[in-house]
Amino acid sequence: MDLYTGTIKNTVDYIGGDREKAKAVVRSLGERVQTVDKRIGAYVGFDAATVLKQLEAIKNNTPYFGLPVSLKDNMCTQGWETTCSSNILQGYIPPYNATVVEKLKEKGAFVFAKCDMDEFAFGSSCETSCYNNRAQKQKKIKNGPTSNPWDCGRVVGGSSGGSAACVAADEAICALGSDTGGSIRQPAALCGVVGLKPTYGRVSRYGLIAFGSSLDQIGPLTKTVEDSAHMLGIIAGYDEKDSTSANVPVPNYTQSLIDNVKGLCVGIPKEYFIEGVDPDVKEAIKSAIDMYTSLGAHCSDVSLPHTEYAVSVYYVIATAEASSNLARFDGVQYGYRCDKGDLHTMYFETRNRGFGQEAKRRILLGTFVLSAGYYDAYYLKAQKVRTLIMNDFQNAFKQCDVILTPTSPTPAFKQGERMDDPIAMYLSDIFTIPVNLAGIPAISIPAGFSRDGLPIGLQLLAPAFCEERLFQAAYTFEQNTNFHTKRPKL
Ligand code: GLN
Repeated sequence: MDLYTGTIKNTVDYIGGDREKAKAVVRSLGERVQTVDKRIGAYVGFDAATVLKQLEAIKNNTPYFGLPVSLKDNMCTQGWETTCSSNILQGYIPPYNATVVEKLKEKGAFVFAKCDMDEFAFGSSCETSCYNNRAQKQKKIKNGPTSNPWDCGRVVGGSSGGSAACVAADEAICALGSDTGGSIRQPAALCGVVGLKPTYGRVSRYGLIAFGSSLDQIGPLTKTVEDSAHMLGIIAGYDEKDSTSANVPVPNYTQSLIDNVKGLCVGIPKEYFIEGVDPDVKEAIKSAIDMYTSLGAHCSDVSLPHTEYAVSVYYVIATAEASSNLARFDGVQYGYRCDKGDLHTMYFETRNRGFGQEAKRRILLGTFVLSAGYYDAYYLKAQKVRTLIMNDFQNAFKQCDVILTPTSPTPAFKQGERMDDPIAMYLSDIFTIPVNLAGIPAISIPAGFSRDGLPIGLQLLAPAFCEERLFQAAYTFEQNTNFHTKRPKL
């Protein structure tokens, strides 16, 4: 077996605390990156010297000794450029590590590479990354947007597209992404890997460059459900540096990897089986429901009546928070500065040249909905509807243990197809966004393939802090299917 194909479990077992073997895993992955990343373009920062230095510093007798983890480029890595795939953060080298990076280190894992993403996590296809035009400047091996390993003419999904692609293409053992409206689960679905958005507050956001602070969560992208449980166990937990972090004990998630769903109540929300869902996706989800039923679960209809407002509510709240979070990028404190003219011109030109089109669109929208005359009509109203969406889930979970839905209405779409149509792009997240508004956890797992051979994802939702329930339901599905064992031919 080539070492780069490993899961967390068998990689850690293979290394067995031996630094030389950890180096062998890194070399194997490095060769894989050289061979396939010219076609995929998952990475924007892969630096052999940094990796080897980290390997030397790993603490002995740690449970995940030598485990390489790829990181979305919006998580701060001390001494290692962190750019959010934006021109405005070119040259920004954080003086500190995100809490998740510290947690990886405590357990013996380390950052292997930085992954491409939509600029500031704004997008669903990885096509808003500044590196799509900068590959020639050596940040990325491939020129153009990150490609889907199953069909290089298609998108990887976003915004954690690089994190999903590197796992699917076996250029990583596992990766971390962030999810504000679907950014872990949607690319996981489109690339045929497992993606988990934990409960809001479960994982510290300290050192995650903020997009929508009331929605953002960091989570794992992995080859299996078992790996997802391992990774959440590493990164979860209270952090006094994040005021929204929850002081709730972290269970041993691997104990919930039990192949049994007998008596589990699975809710199927009728609002998620609407027009516009691809027939192959519908078919795969229907088969999954049949599979759960045959394994002894009870599947029944539930209703989430305010679903239709979720995308609109999200684009008011998320842009409002983004416009405020992005105000700090002014050419003075971080990264790029356009040193021209007086102070005002410097601010203006730095932001004008530094931000891409989608970032500008979000700043404009967010500033508008927060402006004095419109605050009540948009922002305040959106907050009220957000509460109704939360209540929908609370009511539904009185009738079922988990909720099952498609992750994305369609498999991976063609590159360029939705770039001139922001509404079509925004609708890619119609099934993932409500989860962030409610703050609950959800997992996307491989659930089949379209007629064109593209992966299809199934999403499971649970009440806050019930990730264990997700793991058990997802693990059972995985044990009884073989979709997760399929790999793209590269
Ligand atoms: N695609 C959604 C957006 O563009 C969600 C992104 C995310 O979760 N970061 O906002």
